[in-house]
Amino acid sequence: MASALSDRLSRLVKTMRGQARITEDNVAEMLREVRMALLEADVALPVVRDFIARVKLKALGQEVVGSLTPGQALVGVVHKELARTMGELDANGEPKAGPSELNLATQPPAVILMAGLQGAGKTTTTAKLAKHLIEKRKKKVLTVSGDVYRPAAIEQLKTVTAQAGAEWFPSQPSDKPVDIALAALDHAKRHYFDVLIVDTAGRLAIDEALMAEIRALHAALKPIETLFVVDAMQGQDAVNTARAFGAALPLSGIVLTKLDGDSRGGAALSVRSVTGAPIKFAGVSEKIDGLEAFDAERHAGRVLGMGDILALVEEVQKGVDLAQAQKLAEKVKTGGFDLNDYADQLLQMRKMGGLGALMDKLPAQLQAQAGGADMDRAEREMRRMVGIIHSMTALERRKPELIKASRKRRIATGAGVQVQEVNRLLNQFDQMQGMMKKMKGGGLMKMMKRMGG
Ligand code: GDP
Repeated sequence: MASALSDRLSRLVKTMRGQARITEDNVAEMLREVRMALLEADVALPVVRDFIARVKLKALGQEVVGSLTPGQALVGVVHKELARTMGELDANGEPKAGPSELNLATQPPAVILMAGLQGAGKTTTTAKLAKHLIEKRKKKVLTVSGDVYRPAAIEQLKTVTAQAGAEWFPSQPSDKPVDIALAALDHAKRHYFDVLIVDTAGRLAIDEALMAEIRALHAALKPIETLFVVDAMQGQDAVNTARAFGAALPLSGIVLTKLDGDSRGGAALSVRSVTGAPIKFAGVSEKIDGLEAFDAERHAGRVLGMGDILALVEEVQKGVDLAQAQKLAEKVKTGGFDLNDYADQLLQMRKMGGLGALMDKLPAQLQAQAGGADMDRAEREMRRMVGIIHSMTALERRKPELIKASRKRRIATGAGVQVQEVNRLLNQFDQMQGMMKKMKGGGLMKMMKRMGG
């Protein structure tokens, strides 16, 4: 499935090659593919529709800058919009810089209320957050469980709280959750805790009694953070759960757990859209330190199944001297592309960290496709070709057709290679020249894009 997706994405990037701006026509086909990518990542259908409509508005009429093709530009718009949709925004509605954090700006103790279904990872996340607050923000943290229905859940919180190095407030299963939480709050005040994290009971599915209970807890505690904990593996089902919790509580943030699983992470987009709350943290292992600030940019790439392909595109743009590429394109048009230019192209590739570095940035599935290729060898080969070109005279480089048997022998000796290798280089140059003529200029950029897409 993953490789089918990457195939589709690279096909769609090719479809739009050579067009100067994103138009109604070319955008429609691309967005169909993006829609599929999102559905495959388990984003809920209404959310996908909504998202696509927004991207369409943003993308239409966009000029394609520099070396980007409309295909790449649109993938860029989609990626940015995805990241914007999932992450935290500042007052201007722009993506907030830096990692997400919990808001503790209140008279201590700051109360954090944990909400979510049973098994979502609330208890685990409570301990992870406690550890995070102790270590990163030097806070004194108290935890308490409102899950009076499952004594085992209370015990579990006790255990993981100890692992986190925080303190735990005991709860009696015979007491009411609101009373327990208020007693914990009182204790936290009197003992100068900075933060109280309240774990709550979850059910296997939404039910009214559960919602009433957590609403009562919210009203009594007035938490500064109300976090909805949701399992990334839930996929489409996450939407209904999120809608119910979002309707019951003013959620301030989302924790997406089990991102270490093999979900494509589409739940992030659905849950964010339905609740309007930003995703603040991601759970990435069962262990107590398996919590990360949510990285919307990276997650958007995961949802689209693109790995670091966008980083690659950027790298290619950075590494390639645009002015030089244009000069090359001009030369190809006028038939003046010679071996000097060929050597320049090879050196350009090396400037970008060589083939190996480029390969590392490709999504896993593309790497697998290229699996057989031996990058070290390819790299040595590239260096050798540049060496051969450097052994030629200026005239030979400009007019490779002059290079006959005796010149070949001299060049081979100069570069320390066999004559066959000089032949091979000349053949490759011929092929390259032919290819570039067909591409009507911009050969280097296109070649790079072929590597990237
Ligand atoms: P609760 O019922 O919402 O309190 O859920 P728990 O905290 O008991 O977690 C349910 C299960 O999910 C436990 O087995 C946890 O170890 C596991 N879990 C929680 N968060 C993560 C995570 O980020 N990654 C993985 N792999 N497992 C997690």
